[in-house]
Amino acid sequence: MLVGGGHAHVQVLKRFAMRPPPGARVVLVVDRPIAVYSGMVPGVVAGDYRIEEALIDVVPLARRAGASVVLAAATDLDPVRRELSIEGRPPLRFDLASLDVGSSVRGLELPGVAEHTLATRPIGRFVERLEARIAALDPPDAESGGAGAQRGATIRVVVVGGGAAGCELAFTLESRLRRAGLRPRITLVTSDAEPLAGAPAAVRRRLAARIAARDIALRTRTRILGAAAGLLLPDAGEPIGGDWLVWATGAAPHAFPSHPALARDDDGYLLVRDSLELVGFDGIFAVGDCARQVAHPWVPRAGVYAVRQGPFLEQNLRARLDGRPLAPYRPQRDFLSLLNLGDGEALAV
Ligand SMILES: Cc1cc2nc3c(=O)[nH]c(=O)nc-3n(C[C@H](O)[C@H](O)[C@H](O)COP(=O)(O)OP(=O)(O)OC[C@H]3O[C@@H](n4cnc5c(N)ncnc54)[C@H](O)[C@@H]3O)c2cc1C
Repeated sequence: MLVGGGHAHVQVLKRFAMRPPPGARVVLVVDRPIAVYSGMVPGVVAGDYRIEEALIDVVPLARRAGASVVLAAATDLDPVRRELSIEGRPPLRFDLASLDVGSSVRGLELPGVAEHTLATRPIGRFVERLEARIAALDPPDAESGGAGAQRGATIRVVVVGGGAAGCELAFTLESRLRRAGLRPRITLVTSDAEPLAGAPAAVRRRLAARIAARDIALRTRTRILGAAAGLLLPDAGEPIGGDWLVWATGAAPHAFPSHPALARDDDGYLLVRDSLELVGFDGIFAVGDCARQVAHPWVPRAGVYAVRQGPFLEQNLRARLDGRPLAPYRPQRDFLSLLNLGDGEALAV
């Protein structure tokens, strides 16, 4: 039972399609038929890629792997009865399961935030909503060759979150909207003293220079406590107005699954062993953003790890099926980040 069509599971499905696991009946339970390759999202926003290039159609992929697909959200997993609860359907029993359901975004529970902001999670919904807004501003117009009706109009965008995603979205929206003939006024809000607060000093200096050069306004040491229509409500000072409010405050665990027998860390992520199996439960795996490895708690919520876990997860699922010993997953210590700044420019970290 594969739950979620995340970065690791799409690889398991691809490998199962090439070499089906003998004797196994594979079921994919996923809430949306399309998965998004998150690393390309800022590139889509910048206009570097068409949206279709960043999407993975998981249903045909699953069918190629000989898996049946249940297109519905899983609501809980009982690791003792080995049963998955699914919205609007009877529960399904499993022998082996893997969870790759990603994460949510912090602060969605604050008043007005879920209703009035464009939250980066679920990422598929974020990309659809953002693209629809951009398309509405820039209607295809054969005669003028694109941006017509709104050309020259000012558009105020406030991005909340000074991490990699928030910074990339601030820059790529600035570039995309400017190139569509609009006059974007971008504000980046962070509760830290500066954006990318954890990055090396040289990176932060370069970023600050690009922020100034692109006329992006900064509100640092500002915590947003709520939102209303066109307004963000900070912990101090005047409300911050914007035509688009983008919520990119970093990952938070889903409430799903909430069964009390599941071990979670203090943040609420599912705890897994080096085999990527849940603490206390053989044959139930969790990977990507939803899991935290007990031996490597420092691993950030980044797609790069979910991608690297894919082939490893496939091997360990096969090992469980065949009764072979499982291999330990050792996460890489570091990785290259390329922050898309729009205009074909990137900052390497
Ligand atoms: C704007 C942005 C840019 C980013 N850029 C990068 C980057 O460049 N590099 C990088 O390493 N990381 C990046 N990240 C972080 C990255 O998105 C995550 O770390 C990554 O998506 C996690 O992958 P995953 O496999 O855990 O889950 P996801 O890829 O999020 O997949 C989750 C899957 O589970 C499904 N699902 C969710 N809930 C349920 C449910 N209850 N039942 C059934 N199915 C469910 C979803 O539909 C989806 O198929 C970025 C994040 C954002 C927001």
